[in-house]
Amino acid sequence: MSSLSSKIQDVFNEPGCGKNQGKSEKERKKGCTKQLQPGGAAGGCAFDGAKIALQPITDVAHLVHGPIACEGNSWDNRGSKSSGSNLWRTGFTTDINETDVVFGGEKRLYKSVKEIIEKYDPPAVFVYQTCVPAMIGDDIDAVCKAASKKFGKPVIPVNSPGFVGPKNLGNKLAGEAILDHVIGTEEPEYTTPYDINIIGEYNLSGELWQVKPLLDELGIRILCCISGDAKYHDVACSHRAKAAMMVCSKSMINIARKMEERYGIPFFEGSFYGIEDTSDALREISQLLIERGAPAELMERTEALIAREEARAWAGIEPYKQRLAGKKVLLITGGVKSWSVVAALQEAGLELVGTSVKKSTKEDKERIKELMGEDAHMIDDMSPREMYKMLKEAKADIMLSGGRSQFVALKAKMPWLDINQERHHAYMGYVGMVELVKEIDKALSNPVWEQVRKRAPWEETTWEERADAAIAAEAAALAADPELARAQRRSARICKCKAVDRGTIEDAILEHGLDSVEAVTERTHAGSGCTGCTGTIAGILDSIEDWRPGSINEPAKQAA
Ligand code: SF4
Repeated sequence: MSSLSSKIQDVFNEPGCGKNQGKSEKERKKGCTKQLQPGGAAGGCAFDGAKIALQPITDVAHLVHGPIACEGNSWDNRGSKSSGSNLWRTGFTTDINETDVVFGGEKRLYKSVKEIIEKYDPPAVFVYQTCVPAMIGDDIDAVCKAASKKFGKPVIPVNSPGFVGPKNLGNKLAGEAILDHVIGTEEPEYTTPYDINIIGEYNLSGELWQVKPLLDELGIRILCCISGDAKYHDVACSHRAKAAMMVCSKSMINIARKMEERYGIPFFEGSFYGIEDTSDALREISQLLIERGAPAELMERTEALIAREEARAWAGIEPYKQRLAGKKVLLITGGVKSWSVVAALQEAGLELVGTSVKKSTKEDKERIKELMGEDAHMIDDMSPREMYKMLKEAKADIMLSGGRSQFVALKAKMPWLDINQERHHAYMGYVGMVELVKEIDKALSNPVWEQVRKRAPWEETTWEERADAAIAAEAAALAADPELARAQRRSARICKCKAVDRGTIEDAILEHGLDSVEAVTERTHAGSGCTGCTGTIAGILDSIEDWRPGSINEPAKQAA
């Protein structure tokens, strides 16, 4: 097995991964290895994931070995901020061409590393592998090793070509690269009992700087943030931290767990989104540091700071609470943890009509249920059409999501706020929460919406009215004919990868008494591709009383 394959296998089988923990022992033994499906990298390829995970290391030269388009794809597409060097924002690429494909691109890579070191003298060069050089067999590990020896600088191979999988896999492979080649290679000038690492935080819009002053006040030092506003030396020394906080468990759990295993650094998973979550995170940091030898009085100081900051944040939110009370929000998050944003919005008096859970772990979903109640509308995956329908039906007042869904909200003539990686405002910590509330209020009260929603003078009916009438007619036809409704429900394609429709899944559940997603997958193959439909399968299992023939809830029976 090649080293890249074994690395991927290792990452897939990460015991700290929530998905793996939720599997049966038998399933766990099988690992996560599965054949990639077309479209598996639609949300970003593995290279893209690796690059965005490490690019916020600010003083490093990030060199993309591949065609220039790969660099264009990944360059600076997050709003991370730097307090020092801006070298990280310079796009470096070997820009390989047809000749390199024929004769190999290793020489060009070596020359590029040399040129970068001569011109910029960075503390290290990170070299990212992409699809084309990986397919022609360029050995970036060997080139990096040779360049490192020759130029006396760390040249770090990040072996994560796009074709190996999606962005999330790339995040983890990036973590493996720094675990293998960077972490533990240098020593800090000094250490204190108050040194922590923050892992999986990218300083988007500079939001880490909204939390840092709180930690500074408590005397807690961020030895290294991986990777927001980090410097190479910080990452190399991060093995000396006393404790760590995992901010986004999906992206870099392998770093946190392996650092605990290798260097004895305990970690917890927390969030700085929302008032209560920020307070909990500060408490947990202090608790872990005390357990590792910091004086116990740290907790008293932490509680005093929390009390002061919470009071300030509530006072900041107060003027908005009345204006926002009862306003309905549809929340479609990307990487940011849904539950922490849900908690934050509820704190501001907003009503959540639904939240996405596509990237959430089992624990995240449990947490959302705790916050929103058992009837929480959790959206696993949603086509833009369904999203539009839900916005209309739930009568949401605003949608908070990533940039890709913004056009659905705009089409529904509805305010929209970017809370994902391209956002322009910092929402972390106590001040970030006040900022989020302020931005929601601004978006909701923007007078443009009133204008946009008005019918144009020449229109008799708007396209929405025509669409709504068509939807209502379709619903009436289905209500009048339960058999038609049943046939339509059963014909829905649930697993697109394996072309399995809902009828097949329902029949398998009834015929074989299946009661778990794994059992359905084993019997029908649904969910064995990209796994994006496993939440929908779980929903079918949970709602068996709504569709089982003969059940009192079954639409056909009700109609009869
Ligand atoms: S690494 Fe591969 S999948 Fe990713 S951008 Fe480049 S060519 Fe496309």
